Amino acid sequence: MAQAPWDVIIVGQGLAGTTLAWHLIAEGQRVLLLDAGEAVTSSKIAAGLITPITGKRMALSRRYDEFLPAARKFYTSIEKQTGQAFFHDRIALRLFRSDEERENWSTRSGKPDFRSHLVSPQPAPLLDSKLGDASGGGFAMNAAQLDVVAYLDASRAVLEWKPVTLDWHRDVVFDAEGVSVSGCRARTLISCEGFAATRNPYFQWVPFLAAKGDILTVRFHDRVLPQSLHRGIWVAPTAEPDVFRVGSTYDWDNLDQVPNASARAEIESKLKEFFHLPYTVLDHRAAVRPIISESKALVGLHPEEERLGYFNGLGSKGSLHAPWYAQCLADFLVHRNPLPEDVDVQTHFVSNDARH
Ligand SMILES: Cc1cc2nc3c(=O)[nH]c(=O)nc-3n(C[C@H](O)[C@H](O)[C@H](O)COP(=O)(O)OP(=O)(O)OC[C@H]3O[C@@H](n4cnc5c(N)ncnc54)[C@H](O)[C@@H]3O)c2cc1C
Repeated sequence: MAQAPWDVIIVGQGLAGTTLAWHLIAEGQRVLLLDAGEAVTSSKIAAGLITPITGKRMALSRRYDEFLPAARKFYTSIEKQTGQAFFHDRIALRLFRSDEERENWSTRSGKPDFRSHLVSPQPAPLLDSKLGDASGGGFAMNAAQLDVVAYLDASRAVLEWKPVTLDWHRDVVFDAEGVSVSGCRARTLISCEGFAATRNPYFQWVPFLAAKGDILTVRFHDRVLPQSLHRGIWVAPTAEPDVFRVGSTYDWDNLDQVPNASARAEIESKLKEFFHLPYTVLDHRAAVRPIISESKALVGLHPEEERLGYFNGLGSKGSLHAPWYAQCLADFLVHRNPLPEDVDVQTHFVSNDARH
């Protein structure tokens, strides 16, 4: 049989597939991306925020000091290769919503691992009172933001890709030498399908805990900040100075992409709690975050089909996590470097026999 023209075919050109493709190409692999070209995906609507201290409990983002340098190094290198700018350092303002949050922070703020992420000196006032109410207090941290759509578009202009919606039953045939995929040949096929991977017949055993998120695009009718704001919701800058993304909600039950009126009401009500500027909602979208239980991404090969790989579970932090996990998978595929056990998809495998 003729040698496969591609080393790796990747299904999905979201954050996972695109980032993996770049890492494999850097290792000399010939890579083809297949993508369904959906108008709305998790990556296409994401705000791309990267913050060291996150969530209601203001916890340190897991392994941030390892993930952020990997992300910065990777995105800035792709910026150079594509001639496009999409990775931006940002200040993120975290404002408190309650006394409980303020007290919670007072016990943490002095700890060196928290303090090292804070802007020094802290801005005073934290937020111009014409813009919003920061009277409850808060803090400013050094953060970053990936313009995800700009990154995906710049990559698509350079990488080899085909518009294909892959049907795994109909279009994929594994054999001893490789895999045939929709008329193309490769040595390895990798699923980077985001939440759609829950329909992939080979990976039904991966424990998903996905969450739908609604997000608004708004135009503020006055002067605004280049920072991101976080107070129950976040307000994130875009490439247009007066246009911001505002989000987001978590819905664990309705895993569809239909924008939800009550989610929009929740976002707007949290925005109006503290933000003073009038605005117009330009757009309202929803997509499902590919969250895997324990909120960790998983990579590796299928335990029973060594020509089939997996990269998924970027969850709510795809921009921060994608480069580090893609590097692990590329090192494993190309150099056979062992995967860290906690990221290996095989550790979750339950065979069909065991399931029935
Ligand atoms: C509202 C919202 C806000 C978010 N905000 C942030 C944020 O601020 N910061 C952050 O870091 N993360 C954020 N995220 C999370 C982030 O978007 C995800 O972690 C990331 O986009 C997941 O990327 P992915 O490539 O795994 O999946 P996806 O983005 O879903 O990409 C999968 C791709 O595969 C394609 N595909 C699937 N199946 C097939 C098939 N069979 N054949 C061909 N193509 C296929 C899809 O069309 C898609 O293009 C947010 C998510 C949402 C929903």
